[in-house]
Amino acid sequence: MLLKSLEIQGFKTFVDRIKLEFGPGITCIVGPNGSGKSNIVDAIAWVLGEQSARALRGSRMEDVIFAGSEKRRPVGLAEVTLVLDNTDGTLPLPYPEIAITRRLMRSGESEYKLNKIPCRLRDIQELLMDTGAGREKFSFIGQGRLEEILTAHPEERRLLLEEVAGITRSRWRKEQVLKRLAETEQDLVRLKDILRELE
Ligand code: ATP
Repeated sequence: MLLKSLEIQGFKTFVDRIKLEFGPGITCIVGPNGSGKSNIVDAIAWVLGEQSARALRGSRMEDVIFAGSEKRRPVGLAEVTLVLDNTDGTLPLPYPEIAITRRLMRSGESEYKLNKIPCRLRDIQELLMDTGAGREKFSFIGQGRLEEILTAHPEERRLLLEEVAGITRSRWRKEQVLKRLAETEQDLVRLKDILRELE
């Protein structure tokens, strides 16, 4: 699953819209300290559904919206679109290219889109399960990440290994089915009570 392009607007240092095209092979991002190299990686993690402001090096999610500089006023909206190549069919959608978009307004309102169609965060999370870009994001090795993995609790490490092994999606489906089963069992109990009352 290759990254094809990334569009960023109003996210951290990138107040104006920028579009990065990733070619095949290795892409290096070079720049002076504080110029926004890590913010590009944060933008990728964010558009893929990252929910922790801390993981994005902020304290609140609103911190990802451009907060102003000496020359520019703050903006009210951050938007990132990541286009993934899906010609190998890694992602379970019948499209050769998949564009994931995330927007956040300062009011707290947020929006996700798949190929420009509004969707839920859950649709994106389900789409990315077992790809390495899902919840555990093992394909992101940030500064300090290795140490974090080595010192993680066994339970956290197991989640990571499950994502690497590609069983997250099956586990998630099993949990959903078990939840539905429990709900149905409760409905049955309630139904039996009603029937007994009617007899
Ligand atoms: P280094 O090489 O030191 O790791 P870097 O190129 O990776 O640096 P980043 O960490 O990506 O740089 O960017 C840090 C810069 O991003 C800081 O100058 C910080 O002020 C700016 N920044 C972070 N969040 C925002 C925001 N919401 N609005 C405006 N600027 C922001």
